[in-house]
Formats: sequence, C-alpha cells, structure tokens
Amino acid sequence: MIIGIPKEIKTLENRVAATPGAVESLVRRGHTVLVETGAGVGSGCPDEDYVAAGAQMVDVDKAWSADMVYKVKEPIAKEYKYLREGLLLFTYLHLAADKPLTDALLASGTTGIAYETVQLPNGALPLLTPMSEVAGRMATQEGAKFLEKPMGGSGVLLGGVPGVPPAQVVVLGGGVVGINAAKMAVGLGANVTLLDVNHGRLQYIDDVFGGRITTITSTEPNIREWVKKADLVIGAVLIPGAKAPHLITRDMLKTMKEGSVIVDVAVDQGGCVETIKATTHDQPTYVVDGVVHYGVANMPGAVPRTSTLALGNQTLPYAIAIANHGVDALRKDRALALGLNTYKGKLTCPAVGAAFGMAA
Ligand code: NAD
Repeated sequence: MIIGIPKEIKTLENRVAATPGAVESLVRRGHTVLVETGAGVGSGCPDEDYVAAGAQMVDVDKAWSADMVYKVKEPIAKEYKYLREGLLLFTYLHLAADKPLTDALLASGTTGIAYETVQLPNGALPLLTPMSEVAGRMATQEGAKFLEKPMGGSGVLLGGVPGVPPAQVVVLGGGVVGINAAKMAVGLGANVTLLDVNHGRLQYIDDVFGGRITTITSTEPNIREWVKKADLVIGAVLIPGAKAPHLITRDMLKTMKEGSVIVDVAVDQGGCVETIKATTHDQPTYVVDGVVHYGVANMPGAVPRTSTLALGNQTLPYAIAIANHGVDALRKDRALALGLNTYKGKLTCPAVGAAFGMAA
C-alpha cells in the first residue's frame, strides 16, 4: 500500500504520526511511504533520517494522494479538499466535537478510523492512554513550575527540604492521568492525596504506592476539606462521553491558599473546576481568587519528542495491520473496528451519531 504522512498544520502542533523507525517497519513490509518534507522536524526527526529509512520525501499534495494517510490531528478545513472515496484516514478525529469535519468525511466517502475510539475488550482506549500518560506526568511538572513565585505561585518547593515540610498535592481522579501525576509528585517528595469515586482504583493505588499516597473517597465534603490544604490540585477526572463534573466550586476556591495552583487536565472535557477555561501554551495560566489556574487543553503538544514516540509506539501495530490488509484489518480486530467512524458516506460510530442526533 502507499502510505502518506503529511506534516501537521494545526497551530503549535509539532508531533508526527511516524518516526523514521516506524517508516522502516512499514517499508520492510513492502509498503511505499511518502513523507511530507519537514514533517518530523518538530519532533526531532530530520528528513534525511526518513530517507535513510526508505521513505520518499514529497510535497503536501503527494502525501495526501496516498491510499492511506497516517496522521496525528484531525484534518482542518484547509485539508478537507484531500478527502475522497477510497482514502483510508488513520488519525485522531474527535468527530463528536466537530460537525464540519464529520460532514466533510461523509460527503467525500472517506474511510475515517479514529485513534480515540479504538477500544480493547476490557474497555481501555490504547491510543488515548499514551497522551494521558504524558499529560499526567506533565501536570506535576507544570504545577511545580507555576508554584514558583516569579511564575505567580506561592513560592513553595514541591519536595520541601530537610527541616521544611513538602508541598501538599491533591489529585482528583486516579485513572491514567491521575496515577501518572501522583507518581511524579511522589518522586519529587511531595505529600500526595488522591481522591476517586472508584474504590477498586483506590485499593490498587494504595497497594502499588505502599502507603506513599493517601487515598480518599471522592465526596463533596472530602474534596472541600482537601482543596483547603492543597498547594497544588491536579484535576484528572473523566466520566466517559460526558462533560467533567465541577468538583471544585467557586465557593471552595475562596477557601484555597493564596498562590496555590490548579492544573485542570480534564479541561478538554469542560474541566472539573468551576472557574477553569481552556488556555494555550503561549498563555497557560490566569488567576481567580488568588489561585493560579492552568487549563492547557493539548498539554502533550509541548513535549512533541516524547509524545511522538509514545503515540507512535501504540499506533504503529494498527497502522501496519491497515497497510497490510486494508479495511479487512477491521474484520480481523474488533478493537480496530471500533475505531471506524465513517465509511462510504455513512457514520459508523454510535457515540458520534448520538452527539449529532444522526443514525450510526
Ligand atoms: P481515566 O478514565 O483513566 O480516569 C478518570 C478517573 O476519574 C477514573 O479513575 C474515575 O473513576 C475518576 N472519576 C470519575 N468521577 C470522579 C469524581 N467525581 N471524583 C473523583 N474521581 C472521579 O481518564 P484519563 O485518561 O486519566 O483522563 C482524564 C482526563 O484528562 C480526561 O478528560 C482526558 O480527556 C484528559 N486529558 C487531557 C489532556 C490535556 O492535554 N489537557 C491530555 C490527556 C488527557
């Protein structure tokens, strides 16, 4: 199959779908790989490494002319002209939040396979997990940075020093983001408390951290009590398919310490803090009631070298299956089949259909 890897053109997006190593894996299996010139530069993958791996460097039109286009972000309006019947598009699509793209994919007859709906039998979302791992680990790092006085924070060092107590980190939600945030905070020597509604998850975290994390059942009074003590709060809750619940209300905010920091990773689902709004890497924070709010909705974009590798590690086996077998790959693998969102002008993902009141 001919596989195209275009350069990502969303603002400040430096990831690329495949590293030179991934390209080599595809070429070794007999596929032709067309990489747009400069596609990997932002992730530290120069053109000459792709050439050495067996790719042909091409312009954007040629990359999109391939049988299969392997990308990171959903196509933006400028790219709609490349959508067509017979094209296999493998990328994040997030269609439930993007009616114009849904319409463009359906009108063109493109086969759209979305990373975010590929789902294993145990319910795990293997192509979302690596970005949650990155965002979770970054959340603590960003929180530590914005606690510094010159960055607007209270001037507390997460780990403290001998004779001076460490900071109190409170993590709301103990899923992929939450456990990764907690792991980093423990590593830096902070006091860490994690709240979740899922008791099984609290048992697991209590077991694996051997008492280094205090686990608390997530209820309104418990959240109220712990945010008061927090230097850094990390919002990491998810109710699949729904808007995040506002666990920290405006009145709770008023009880927090001056200069404390909230990193609300769940901001992409509306956020779990009443006063959070989406921000960008250019201007990541703002202050409400003396509390620094961080609401960047695409945190992994700031560390494209790590994010490209982490995402590519997980997407490559599926990309190889699609390249080897075309749409038949979906018949062989139920998890990948759940990734199919659009096919021959029809919507094939019920969750997207529900978002638009359309049959799927
Ligand atoms: P996950 O499903 O692995 O974990 C969510 C956890 O929240 C679960 O353990 C669940 O039990 C818990 N939860 C649900 N309701 C709760 C409540 N009321 N109180 C406490 N805990 C509760 O999800 P995840 O992969 O960790 O993702 C978390 C959020 O981070 C999602 O909204 C995801 O989209 C977002 N995210 C954002 C970025 C970014 O750049 N901002 C990057 C990756 C993920």
